[in-house]
Amino acid sequence: MSQIQPGLLWVVATPIGHRDDFSARAIETLRKVAVIAAEDTRHSRPLLMHYNIGTPLVALHEHNEREVVDAIVRRLLGGESVALISDAGTPLISDPGFRLVRAARAAGIRCVPVPGACAAIAALSVAGLPSDRFVFEGFLPPKAAARRSRLQELAGDARTLIFYESSHRVAESLADMRDVFGEAREGVLARELTKLFETVIGEPLGELATRVANDPDQQRGECVILVAGRGEEADAREAEGRRVFAILREELPPAKAAKLAAAITGAPRKLLYEG
Ligand code: SAM
Repeated sequence: MSQIQPGLLWVVATPIGHRDDFSARAIETLRKVAVIAAEDTRHSRPLLMHYNIGTPLVALHEHNEREVVDAIVRRLLGGESVALISDAGTPLISDPGFRLVRAARAAGIRCVPVPGACAAIAALSVAGLPSDRFVFEGFLPPKAAARRSRLQELAGDARTLIFYESSHRVAESLADMRDVFGEAREGVLARELTKLFETVIGEPLGELATRVANDPDQQRGECVILVAGRGEEADAREAEGRRVFAILREELPPAKAAKLAAAITGAPRKLLYEG
């Protein structure tokens, strides 16, 4: 008796905004598989209907991934092919799917990528920041103390930093980045990529944080924040920041002196204040 060939797990990227950013191969794959595992079936249905994809859907999200993975792996081992999609962009990139892909690979199932949109890469491609080396940090912790300590860990990294952020925290996060990385470090806010109100603003973090804090329109929609890595000039800037801080400190309270020294020299306010 011939053995059943295991099915394939297709990991398929969907658009991050513009519906046409959906490859012909992605559409064809989603039409031909036995089932599509989707993060939120209600969210994906309109897109799939638009492309006449009538394949049955099962939900696979962060709250049921553990339970659903076993059932999907059994179907794959039984010879059915399965596609994995998320609400937008590439599955597993700040989205569910890691457990499924890991379990499928452990069971000897071939996992096939069908690449496409990814907000981090789309943002990097237009940010004008060095793209030869970069680090994807996903979402920062939502609580301020944990967020600042994560930023602190990254302050010395020379690679371009890429963060996902939700619109209601973007102003807070940019203010923290300004304080930890310094006013002068270049930042880019890439909002609503591939959508009607697509905006990409690149300027020193001091200016970017102020602009976003003062403009509620910049706090809407979906966004990626990119920050230039620590440059070679940072040592000189920090030395100058310390010198100016020491002078101002003789006349002013430390918080005020650090704020002014940071604004004058571009050195990180947090570094001056905390020594
Ligand atoms: N898997 C997706 C990908 O490949 O980019 C990311 C999913 S994650 C849950 C959603 C976050 O991605 C948003 O909060 C935002 O930071 C970013 N994002 C998604 N679509 C975007 C867009 N059109 N413009 C800017 N950022 C976007």
